Amino acid sequence: MDFRLTDEQKMVRDTVRAFVQKELLPLEGDVLRNEREGRVGIEREQLRQLQLKAKELGFWGINTPEEYGGANLGPVMTAIIIMELSHTFVPFAFGGSADNILYHCNEEQKQRYLIPTINGERRSCFALTEPGAGSDAANIKMSAVKDGKHWVLNGEKVFITNGNEADFTMVFAVTDKERGARGVTCFLVDREMGWRSNYIHTMGEWGPASLYFENVRVPEENILGELNQGFTLGMQWIGAGRWNIAARAVGAAERLLQMGIDYAKTRSTFGKPIAERQAIQWMIADSRVEIEATRWLALHAAWMAEEGLDTRHAASIAKLYGSNMANQVADRVMQIHGGMGYTKELPIERWYREMRVWRIFEGTDEIQRFIISRDLLRGYVRLGEELV
Ligand SMILES: Cc1cc2nc3c(=O)[nH]c(=O)nc-3n(C[C@H](O)[C@H](O)[C@H](O)COP(=O)(O)OP(=O)(O)OC[C@H]3O[C@@H](n4cnc5c(N)ncnc54)[C@H](O)[C@@H]3O)c2cc1C
Repeated sequence: MDFRLTDEQKMVRDTVRAFVQKELLPLEGDVLRNEREGRVGIEREQLRQLQLKAKELGFWGINTPEEYGGANLGPVMTAIIIMELSHTFVPFAFGGSADNILYHCNEEQKQRYLIPTINGERRSCFALTEPGAGSDAANIKMSAVKDGKHWVLNGEKVFITNGNEADFTMVFAVTDKERGARGVTCFLVDREMGWRSNYIHTMGEWGPASLYFENVRVPEENILGELNQGFTLGMQWIGAGRWNIAARAVGAAERLLQMGIDYAKTRSTFGKPIAERQAIQWMIADSRVEIEATRWLALHAAWMAEEGLDTRHAASIAKLYGSNMANQVADRVMQIHGGMGYTKELPIERWYREMRVWRIFEGTDEIQRFIISRDLLRGYVRLGEELV
């Protein structure tokens, strides 16, 4: 067993770290100010310029196959990169990527959806959740009824990330009511085909959207993958994000903890720095332990993905532990800062609000616990056999 990073991994980590230092950290003040005044943190054009700078360093399509111009760095490297990038709350992501399930496009769909998305010319959104079906995703009701060479879609989706900005959606609808989850199909639907969206205000700095479909006619060639095979695609999309959230939790919590350490050394009460109080030291120590545990959970799940192993159990553990850890660390770091921690002068409260959703989307805490316990109770996973 070798826990050392390879030279290439170290080089990538250090390059992303330098990029964050040089290009993103200086923007934090502007992002906070823009958001406080009701604007987006960074405008689309500024994001694009940053993505092009990153491209010059080789960071373009970090998970995109080479044949589409990507670097295709793989899950472990991606986890390492996310841990570095999430040291800042500046809403930045490298360009050149597309949702994993868009690779199920046929040749003709690739030209209209996959490639323009990779190139940043079109934006997608993933629309599974409905007002009556979130955790219980197999219970969606949006209907798709065949009419000649079209499918006619009716229903509502809710909490769709990028739903207000997207040019097209990958939307899931029931094409065969009798077959439950095996009667669900994924459709590629352009906004011009007639769906509407409404922004949803959340406690975070960005919001998802509700999507409305009223007799939206979708050509039959716009099915993504196979008819009635949509649910598998939906689960594939959701599954890929789970250990990413744990990786994000590591970077963000590390940055917050460093803020807590720095503040504890300079803030004095009753004649000495609060860093000399055991109450503060224990918050620092517990945070450090939990961040370290999350790091290895995330890397292990990513490594399993790289090896082509079934990551579902490991990814649920990493997501559950990591998202709770980040919330806990943010709470402690706010406590260490006292009243200052609660103000909008510092980014702690912003991060605190953003991280709360990590425990809700891509499978809630309770759903992760359900998966983990089910795997054990049914014997899909055995204790003591975690090392493969
Ligand atoms: C900011 C944001 C962005 C999102 N982005 C997207 C997106 O891009 N695309 C998309 O399709 N969806 C998206 N979602 C939806 C998200 O995946 C769902 O909100 C989430 O899966 C929970 O579903 P729900 O809100 O319907 O809650 P429910 O499923 O109604 O759950 C309510 C509560 O009951 C608990 N619960 C549910 N079932 C059980 C059970 N069997 N046992 C124990 N407890 C249970 C839940 O854990 C939760 O605490 C997003 C949500 C948010 C908030």
